[in-house]
Amino acid sequence: MIVVGGGIGGLGAAYALARRGLAVRLLEKASAFGEVGAGIQLAPNCTRILDDYGLLDEARARGVVPDAMIMRDAVDGAELTRLDLRDLERRYGFPYLVIHRSDLHAMLLRACERAGVELLTSRRVVGYAGTEDGARVTLADGRTEQARVVIAADGLHSVARGLVVDDAPVSSAYVAYRGTTPTASGRAATVDLSEVVVYVGPGCHLVHYGLRGGELLNQVAVFESPKALAGDADWGTPDELDAAFEGTCDFVRGGLPDMWRDKWWRMYDRDPVMTWVSGSVALLGDAAHPPLQYIAQGAIMAIEDGWVLGEHVARRTAADGSVDWPAVLAAYQAVRPEHCRRVLATSRAWGELWHLDGLPRRQRNVLLRERDTYDYAFVDWLYGPTALDPADEPPMFAPVPLASARTDALAESRS
Ligand SMILES: Cc1cc2nc3c(=O)[nH]c(=O)nc-3n(C[C@H](O)[C@H](O)[C@H](O)COP(=O)(O)OP(=O)(O)OC[C@H]3O[C@@H](n4cnc5c(N)ncnc54)[C@H](O)[C@@H]3O)c2cc1C
Repeated sequence: MIVVGGGIGGLGAAYALARRGLAVRLLEKASAFGEVGAGIQLAPNCTRILDDYGLLDEARARGVVPDAMIMRDAVDGAELTRLDLRDLERRYGFPYLVIHRSDLHAMLLRACERAGVELLTSRRVVGYAGTEDGARVTLADGRTEQARVVIAADGLHSVARGLVVDDAPVSSAYVAYRGTTPTASGRAATVDLSEVVVYVGPGCHLVHYGLRGGELLNQVAVFESPKALAGDADWGTPDELDAAFEGTCDFVRGGLPDMWRDKWWRMYDRDPVMTWVSGSVALLGDAAHPPLQYIAQGAIMAIEDGWVLGEHVARRTAADGSVDWPAVLAAYQAVRPEHCRRVLATSRAWGELWHLDGLPRRQRNVLLRERDTYDYAFVDWLYGPTALDPADEPPMFAPVPLASARTDALAESRS
């Protein structure tokens, strides 16, 4: 087996397959393994898998298990709705936790090492071709590698994706700034780390939560870039960050100086694609389904992809150790694209809801305030067990139209 890409998706898949007894070689283009960025949120549909991998205790120890996830209005700071994460853990059987990306990546890397994955760096894959009994990849230096199956986890700018579709990343014109701050002093010391909080505002939002047992405050500030909308190549600069949050409350604006102001992430996704397998090559992770990050499921979907492959390998391994790969890839193809299509579509819709202004913003706030904290209708489809067969995919929730907000409550919210 070859896995291309050593991000969270590639490492998760390599581990899922190696623990089933397969010989896995992972090819990463960078000269060293690592993750750039700050925190990542892991919902129960991911911590359930980490538990299956024997990694949940370590993830808990390295991360933070918050008590609540709260949405507030970024303009006035008022609470709109919340999830009780302790109750949520009881409902789904596994915790919602937040962890540093580099800690999660390192945990998966060590799990791969323990499972005997051959981990190779400085291997950029530039081409894919079918062979009589598998697939061949070509590296940038001209060498080739061959395997029965190749899993392409080569991220947003995937080369392998060209095997199934001729498309390009879609710019959202939004940009993310990230930052981590020690919580020992200053503003970060005043923040309640038992909460994951998102402040949603017109064209912008700020997320914060604790990391590393509460040693660090992680913040993500996201906004729509006027320069991107105007077609300017130099978009997302720090002056735009400050301007985007001008109309938000003191607490939100107070977080901006703590962002890393020398780097930013332009937010792209791609339109869903429903075919992920071409011969013996299968797409996985962002290569198959890069989302906007609003429902925090990108890395989770990638980890689920790997787990689903591993489970189907286990189901289709004969007594002599041979794997029925056409059946495994068909099972993967049958179940994952539809789930991820739903996540991609919901992520876009959720982002639009967060960033509303004017009357739609007030309608949203009325609807969110009326939601019962213990109503899980909007997350049941996401946080339950990862489906292995299409019949196990839970039904989607029914969206609530903004126009259904009660007019008497709307009139009150104007005052
Ligand atoms: C601001 C922000 C916040 C987010 N928050 C969350 C969150 O809270 N929860 C969550 O689940 N997700 C979140 N995500 C999404 C998540 O980060 C990604 O979906 C996830 O990291 C994708 O992992 P991946 O391994 O598929 O791709 P990548 O992380 O892009 O990894 C691809 C790997 O392949 C390598 N590679 C690329 N091309 C080649 C090649 N040709 N040959 C060899 N190697 C190659 C790369 O070097 C890299 O190591 C967030 C994203 C952003 C931007």
